[in-house]
Amino acid sequence: MQAEPHAEHHEVAILGAGPAGLTAAIYAARARLDTVVFEGPQPGGQLTITTEVENYPGFEHGILGPELMDIFRRQAHRFGARSLYETIVRVDFHRYPFLLWSDSGKLYSAEAVIVATGASAKKLGVPGEAEYMGYGISACATCDGFFFRDQHVYVVGGGDTAMEEALFLTRFARRVTIIHRRQEFRASKIMQERVRSNPKIDFLLDTVVEEFLGETRDGLRRLTAIRVRNVRTGEQAVLPADGVFVAIGHQPNTDIFRGFLQMDEQGYIITEPRSTRTNIPGVFACGDVQDKVYRQAVTAAGSGCMAAIDAERWLEARRHAEQGRAVPADGGLASGGESSSSVAER
Ligand SMILES: Cc1cc2nc3c(=O)[nH]c(=O)nc-3n(C[C@H](O)[C@H](O)[C@H](O)COP(=O)(O)OP(=O)(O)OC[C@H]3O[C@@H](n4cnc5c(N)ncnc54)[C@H](O)[C@@H]3O)c2cc1C
Repeated sequence: MQAEPHAEHHEVAILGAGPAGLTAAIYAARARLDTVVFEGPQPGGQLTITTEVENYPGFEHGILGPELMDIFRRQAHRFGARSLYETIVRVDFHRYPFLLWSDSGKLYSAEAVIVATGASAKKLGVPGEAEYMGYGISACATCDGFFFRDQHVYVVGGGDTAMEEALFLTRFARRVTIIHRRQEFRASKIMQERVRSNPKIDFLLDTVVEEFLGETRDGLRRLTAIRVRNVRTGEQAVLPADGVFVAIGHQPNTDIFRGFLQMDEQGYIITEPRSTRTNIPGVFACGDVQDKVYRQAVTAAGSGCMAAIDAERWLEARRHAEQGRAVPADGGLASGGESSSSVAER
């Protein structure tokens, strides 16, 4: 192993500080690995933009998202993990130790990297959206549907996800209106049929949301209405709204890993089945960045635990192999991306 002289070196670098990254930090630091967590553009991850989290086990009466993430972070710090409030802007996973450049201009190197950069829900980008996100606007029916019992909610989108969200919301809401900017849906036929045959669901087609409106009463912010526009007629209307679910897709935060990590067509990192291993030995991925199916805090945390265990075992096997024989300076990565130590470990 040849250290980069100008780099700050750590055994484990975790990219991302949501439930996945911080759980990985708890496990890695507790295994006495020198661990840093790059918190990135959203310290604490997606749960910091929501209010009540009622489905994270261990909190019988629910907990506020930012508070939950603060507990995760403090638990990781208790075992010696360190948070760096920097964003990684470039990586080189073809060198070993792996190299990471941060937006502060600093260079870091690491013996194992855990990628936990999440997937951001795509936003409409209209006024009021950021203000009322978590206060009536949501991107996750599984997470927040329960808060809208007997209310009238809107789902924005025309794909399978929007149809799934709408169907799920009928368990709670009195009425669900799907808003879509076209007449035709992108969703599969079967999902469209299910939605159309559900008496609680109706449609507002050729329509876009132009603004989210709300109020703050007794210090409590909440969404009260949406301004919509018919794209054919140009007609505008303000509609009372208890809740809006924006379901126009997710974008995995993986741009900087292109050319290094294998991804699917949407940019989600591909990991080996029942593991967090990527195609690069020593680089692991966990949480929403590699999971487009479940997208929950508890599943992200679970895979964060897996990533730290995978990383710890990989480092251990590599060191054993190093003691037995000389390992190439690049960790064996140059020879087809498989280090000899990782082959020994698999
Ligand atoms: C409004 C809302 C409400 C939700 N409510 C619930 C709920 O009630 N229950 C539930 O289980 N789930 C809920 N979810 C889903 C849950 O938040 C996610 O499934 C979970 O946060 C995913 O965790 P993660 O660690 O994989 O990624 P994230 O939480 O997305 O964290 C990603 C992390 O990566 C960092 N990052 C990104 N790029 C870089 C980079 N280049 N360098 C360094 N760091 C980087 C970010 O700053 C962030 O810290 C909700 C989501 C939203 C949006």
